[in-house]
Parts: sequence; structure tokens; C-alpha cells
Amino acid sequence: YKINVEASSASRRGKSRTQHHHQLNALVLGQAPASEQDDLCLPSHDFSSQALVPSFHKYMDMYKRSVEDPAGFWSDIAAQFYWKSRWDPAVCSGNLDVRKGNVNIKWFEGGITNICYNCLDKNIELGNGDKIAIYWEGNEPGADASLTYTQLLQRVCQLANYLKDIGVRKGDAVLIYLPMLAELPIAMLACARIGAVHSVVFAGFSAESVAQRINDCKPKVMITCNAVMRGSKLINLKQIVDAALAESSQHGFSLGVCLTYENKPAMKREATGWQVGRDVWWQDVVPKYPTMSEVEWVDAEDPLFLLYTSGSTGKPKGVLHTTGGYMVYSATTFKYAFDYKPEDVYWCTADCGWITGHSYVTYGPMLNGATVVVFEGAPNYPDPGRSWAIVDKYKVTLLYTAPTLVRSLMREGNEHVTRYSRKSLRVLGSVGEPINPSAWRWFYNVIGDSRCPISDTWWQTETGGFMITPLPGAWPQKPGSATFPFFGIQPVIVDDKGNELEGECTGYLCIKGSWPGAFRTLYGDHERYETAYFKPFPGYYFSGDGCSRDKDGYYWLTGRVDDVINVSGHRIGTAEVESALLSHYQCTEAAVVGVEHEVKGQGIYAFVTLAEGVPYSEELRKSLILAVRKQIGAFAAPDKIHWAPGLPKTRSGKIMRRILRKIASKQWDELGDTSTLAEPNVVDQLIALADH
Ligand code: ATP
Ligand code: MG
Repeated sequence: YKINVEASSASRRGKSRTQHHHQLNALVLGQAPASEQDDLCLPSHDFSSQALVPSFHKYMDMYKRSVEDPAGFWSDIAAQFYWKSRWDPAVCSGNLDVRKGNVNIKWFEGGITNICYNCLDKNIELGNGDKIAIYWEGNEPGADASLTYTQLLQRVCQLANYLKDIGVRKGDAVLIYLPMLAELPIAMLACARIGAVHSVVFAGFSAESVAQRINDCKPKVMITCNAVMRGSKLINLKQIVDAALAESSQHGFSLGVCLTYENKPAMKREATGWQVGRDVWWQDVVPKYPTMSEVEWVDAEDPLFLLYTSGSTGKPKGVLHTTGGYMVYSATTFKYAFDYKPEDVYWCTADCGWITGHSYVTYGPMLNGATVVVFEGAPNYPDPGRSWAIVDKYKVTLLYTAPTLVRSLMREGNEHVTRYSRKSLRVLGSVGEPINPSAWRWFYNVIGDSRCPISDTWWQTETGGFMITPLPGAWPQKPGSATFPFFGIQPVIVDDKGNELEGECTGYLCIKGSWPGAFRTLYGDHERYETAYFKPFPGYYFSGDGCSRDKDGYYWLTGRVDDVINVSGHRIGTAEVESALLSHYQCTEAAVVGVEHEVKGQGIYAFVTLAEGVPYSEELRKSLILAVRKQIGAFAAPDKIHWAPGLPKTRSGKIMRRILRKIASKQWDELGDTSTLAEPNVVDQLIALADH
């Protein structure tokens, strides 16, 4: 593909925005408006000159090598890790093409290593034993703790020794259901150390969802805690685990041990439900074990973890990642996409229950020996300034978060931000959904004081690490675009028939070839793995997302392909209409779905949340529609605005459009799997506000 970034650097942000005929084309194709494509945001000279990848040319050199000689490129990087013995003989092997047989992907096969060893022991050997590995910040301001790399290793070893002692062996599944205590990454690393396969389940899931996952992966041991305070709410996690286990026992499952951490500030032992024989208090057993433990050396292709996707589109899938390739990929993507330097303090607001927390709270940063902030609480507790208080307290330099959080803080007003210094910040990051340009700009201008590049990272649970992402300092950014592919990644955009599109285009985003962090299967269902990801466009990995490439080669994610709306033959991405609605100053959240329309085929149905205290009115409805007409065109004007006090979201904060589609088409009895909803009552609110 062609990247034409030199030409676009010429037109500076704000200057010479051409609104030429091209705009019309782009809009009909479902692309971002030309004004956005032309909106460039240049990194400062100071930033670029000190960046790991200081220029587009340097990137191109590295990128070219990564796709022309992947074996050479990745083995040079892999050699920086500790391997008990080297892989042999191929760096990458297997088959990706369903037409040639079963899909099987292998990286560094035959290499013997351990990811926990590379995260901890290796960094300590390099002299970083006294460096802070984790700054833990509790729910209540003032509740905090820290662990150096040496201390973290000791805690991990104690748990690893305990798990081995109760019979957990290489390949056994351990289900972890913990809030963001330091014990969560400790538990992940302890499993990795002994070759056990962890499956972290986000500690906001209901008993029913936990039971579903237990029944799927049949863990030998579960690790949880008695309770946690989330904001001002007490959540009794142990009770949820007990209910899940009761449910699973109906399916003949019985758990060996439920190791329970006593989270005293939330709840005392006496108040916790207990099953003698099965339940064990962490504090009673783990601290008695030695602080050193042998490492279980594993093959690069031995499984590391199993993680269920967030369930935005349907039943969660058990994504399986293996050791060697994931290690190399999570570490390398972290290093380059955040321009990591050893003196950085890094904070990722994601929970370890999501892939983001696996690759970019635990493994990626720790493989680099980074100092990581782990935050137990909520970003708006005790007030909406909490995030910036944390940034100032720990002098956070790299901040990685999600558009949903950016928008919710944006709604609270700038004063919660500007009363904090934030001058430590250097690079910002975003993940989870397309970030609409107006949220991007607020993030950039207000949070980052127009100083920090934003890494808008596109990737998936399945990909293990970043796929399309800015490298801060290497090229100009465009608000709302994930920009260019990471090293080794060959994105292709295909049409309905699987033809590769060239140049400026819109279609389905696929990946050609393999990369080290790719998932290897869906647990227990290799057939679904092939059907969902490799059969739709044979020869490629199909992401399920729609995407455009603009005239400068920048990639713009347009949302999931199931979310593309076809209005009178115009393919319109939900993300674009939402972005236009969100540019209206009184609109704080928007979600758009397609509904059947007699004339147009599909009509546009928009759910809109307004800023605090703004009343619904006919006038406002009109001005919202006008915003879309002006920015995209009359054909994209919503047919219906549905006022929404709240939107149905997954527990990772993503809008569940499949539920909104049912509400829009009044199929209120067919909402489907709602077990991953964060707040089930918003659905009732929306139904109440519909035209009956
Ligand atoms: P499920 O597959 O169960 O429906 P999910 O796709 O939401 O859930 P994740 O793997 O957590 O589960 O999310 C990956 C998806 O999130 C991507 O496919 C994409 O749709 C969206 N996404 C993530 N980051 C970005 C980004 N920077 N820009 C645009 N979209 C993004
Ligand atoms: Mg997905």
C-alpha cells in the first residue's frame, strides 16, 4: 500500500483545509469527511527528536524489513528476551489459508522460555530490583502501596509455590476473579511462572456470566477476594463466586480450591460466606511459602492464557494465547506505541479483566521493566478529578485509556481537569472504540495541553497487541484515525467478494500474513475459530471491523461491519454519524443503528444522551440532525432521534448496538444475551422512552 505522509505534512493543522469535490466521494464511500482527513496534528520537534522512532523514514525502514523479512526482524527482537533454549528451526510456521487445510499458527516453536521470568527475574538481573514495579492506588484517596520488582517477584513466588503445592500443574486452568488489587497481576504472573493457564474474568460480571466461563474452561482453582468497594458501592465478590459455583455444580462441575484474598477495608472475614474444605483464605496460606520458586520452562507454543471477549456482538469467545509470540509482541508494541523510556511512569486505566489489562497493564510494561500504576477505584470517585489527581500524585508520563472515559469526563467540565497540573504527561493513548474527533481534540487540548501525542491503538482480544497505531513522534496525527500499521502488520481492505482494494477505499479490514501476538484458537472450538475469522475471506484474517484508507494512506476504523448501515445504497459507518452528533456541544453520547425503512432500505436511528441538565426539545432534535446534514450530508441525516438518559454498554464500556437495534425495531422481547451489560436497567429506561 502507499503511504503519502510527506505530502500531507505540508498542510499544517488548521491551515489550508481543502473542502474539494473529493469530500463528496469520500462521504458516499462512507469515509470520514475530507476536513477531518486534512486535519493534521504534528508532533513537536522536541518530542520527535527524542522518540524511539523519530521520523516516518525510520519507521518505513523498519516496517519494510518487518514485512519483507519477518523471520529476521522478529528473531532479532526475540533475542533480547531470555530463552532457556532457542526456537528451532523456523521463527514462524503453520498455515493461515483455510483452502489449504486447518489453520494453525506457530511462532518460535521449540523455543523454551517463561514470560514471568522475563518480566521479573530478568529485570532484576539487569539491576532493576529496587525499581518500583507497581504503584497501587486504592479506591479511597490515601489508600496506596508500592512494590519494587524484587518485592513483586517474592510475592509471585509465594503464590506460585502455594499453587504448586495444592497440585496445580502445567496446562491446568486457573480462573481469576479479582478487582484491581496488586494481587491480580501477582496471580497472573504466578500462574505463568508454573505454566498454569490463567483465565481472568472481570470482577464486574454476574454469577451467571462467571458460571458460563467456569463451565467452558473448568478451572482447577479459582482465585478471588471477599469483597471490594467500587466508588461508594460494596460488591460482595465471594457471594457472586459462590452463586456461580452453585450454578456450575448443576452441570456436574466441582472446584478444588477457591483461594480468597481478604480485602479487609471492604469486608471482614466473619461476613464472608464460606465452604469448608473448598475455600481457603489467601492470607492464611500464601505468606507461609518461600519467596523464591523454580520456574516451569515452557514451549513458546504452550498456552499462556484464555480470555473471553467482551461480548459486544454475541456470546463471548474463549480466545487462547500462547507464550513466546505473545511475549515478544506485547513487549514490542508497548515499547514503540508509547515511546517507552525507562524513567516513564505508566498508567493504563483498563482492568486486567480485559485484554488491555493483560497486554498493557501486566505483560507488555513489565517485560520492559516499567513502573505501572494499578488503580482499584473508579475515575469519578470521589469526584471527576480523580484521574488527574492520580496523574499528579505519581507523575504519570504515559496514560492509556478509553474513549468512553474521555467522553464521560468531558461531560463533567474542564475545571475538574485544569485544577491539576498534569505536566508530567508525555503520551496519551486510547483503545476500545473509534475515538470521535471531538473527544480526540478534548483529550489532546485539555488533558494533554496540546503537548502530548495520542496513540489511538486499534487492536482486538484476538490480536494480542496493537495492530494499527500511531508511533508518537514519527508522523503527524489525524484526530480519529489510528494512522498506520505496526511493524509486521499488513492490513488489507477488501470488498464483499474478498478483492483487495487499492489506495483510497472503504471495506472490510483483514490482515495478510501472521504476527507473533495472534491468537491460536478459540478454546474448545477450533472450528468456530476458522469459521469466524479465516473463512469469510480465505487467505486472510478477518477482523470483523470496517475501515477506510484515505488519500494519505491513513486508516480510519468505521466500526464493526455488522454496524454498517446501507441507506439508499450509501454505506454509512455508525461511527461517522455518531461523531457528527457528538460534535454538537449539547450531545455527550450517541449510538446509531440501522432500522428497516420502506423507501431507503435502511434508515438511521440515533440514540442521544444530552449534557447534564439540558432538556429534550424539538428545536434541539432539529439542530442535532442539522449537525449530521452539515458534516456528512443529507443522506446520512437520522430518521429518528431517541432520547437516551443512558446507553447499554458492556462492562468494558462499549456500546452494545445489537441491543439498541432490537429496541429501535421494537423487538423488546428479543434482546438476546444481556449478561454482559454493565447496567441492565438502562434498557428499561430506553424502552420507556420509545414511541409505543
Ligand atoms: P466481541 O468480539 O465479543 O463482540 P469486542 O470485539 O468488543 O467483543 P474486544 O476484543 O475487547 O471485544 O474489542 C475489539 C474491538 O474493539 C475491535 O474489533 C474494534 O471494533 C474495537 N476497537 C478497539 N480499539 C479500537 C480503536 N482504537 N479504534 C476503533 N475501534 C476499536
Ligand atoms: Mg470482537
